[in-house]
Amino acid sequence: MSWQRREDLEAAEEDRLGSFAARAAAHGGRRGAEPEDPMRTAFQRDRDRIIHSTAFRRLQHKTQVFAATEGDHYRSRMTHSLEVSQMARGAALALRLNPDLSEAIALAHDLGHPPFGHVGEEALNELMAAEGGFRHNAQVARIVDQLEDRHGDGLGLNLCFVLRASLLKGRMPEGFPLSPDLDPKPRAPLEASLVDHCDKIAYLCHDLDDALRAGLIQAEDAASLRLWQLAEAEVGSGAVARIYSRMVGILVRDLVEHSARSLGEPERSEPPRIGPGPDMQVLSQEMLAFLRERFYRSAPVLDAMHQGQTRLRQCFAYFAAHPGQIPDKMRERSGACSPARQACDYVAGMTDRFLMQTAAPA
Ligand code: MG
Repeated sequence: MSWQRREDLEAAEEDRLGSFAARAAAHGGRRGAEPEDPMRTAFQRDRDRIIHSTAFRRLQHKTQVFAATEGDHYRSRMTHSLEVSQMARGAALALRLNPDLSEAIALAHDLGHPPFGHVGEEALNELMAAEGGFRHNAQVARIVDQLEDRHGDGLGLNLCFVLRASLLKGRMPEGFPLSPDLDPKPRAPLEASLVDHCDKIAYLCHDLDDALRAGLIQAEDAASLRLWQLAEAEVGSGAVARIYSRMVGILVRDLVEHSARSLGEPERSEPPRIGPGPDMQVLSQEMLAFLRERFYRSAPVLDAMHQGQTRLRQCFAYFAAHPGQIPDKMRERSGACSPARQACDYVAGMTDRFLMQTAAPA
């Protein structure tokens, strides 16, 4: 039997993918030139590099909403990323977008999150305000380009350009140190937008699931949500696990149906729009508002986050004042930058538990 070579996989993409999909053969090159892999396309190879990275393994001990130390069954950033990646892969296949690129973007999309989720991010952004700020989606570029330097050649994971450009979503802080070849507002492929929407679907649904598991939200209260009611009517059962799984299904199906409509419009003057339909946008907003009030801003969640944020501020202050205490290897990877940026890179890379165990003398 002859085996499938990379060239065969690239040719199969031509047959299988729609005209708007990113092609692995047009991956945009790498900062450090290297021969192509004989068996994997560039996107498959980059997906594997992400999975093998230290930053990816750290996601298992980073908070999604519950502090990652609080229970074995709550989502961590890693399980969140895996859920996003399987959703994005499935939706990409349905839409004839590139599933390998979608998977790689999804697995990498949260690599830049500091410990303790968004409160950690807010604190670092404030502490770094005079030096280009901090955002997790800017930090992910720093990680894959620089900090995750397995080979000591200064090229990080040496990912392809199309994937690197796909990771810079949203607003970049002014003056944040990115690689000089990256435009802070790059033209990203549609797969980046698809992953962004799958990210939202994943966290809305699994955060509700985690809040129910923790007893912070009761099923009777969740039943006030119109999306819940729709799912319950479809499955014809009040079983929470079935309703939860149908909610995910409804949102993904809606995303695919509405995006497919836009991708199929003939002679369009603008790029197609990947996104949910207007009805599901409203129901998702309702669910987000519900989660904010009942879960994200609930006392147990805020207390744990507050503790984490206080420790993060202490650690940052200590290492910014004593950069010599940052491990040499970490400081070298931060490159030529201020002690504050070195401390920011170091603290942002920590897992929740490592941060809480790190002694930071006052
Ligand atoms: Mg995410």
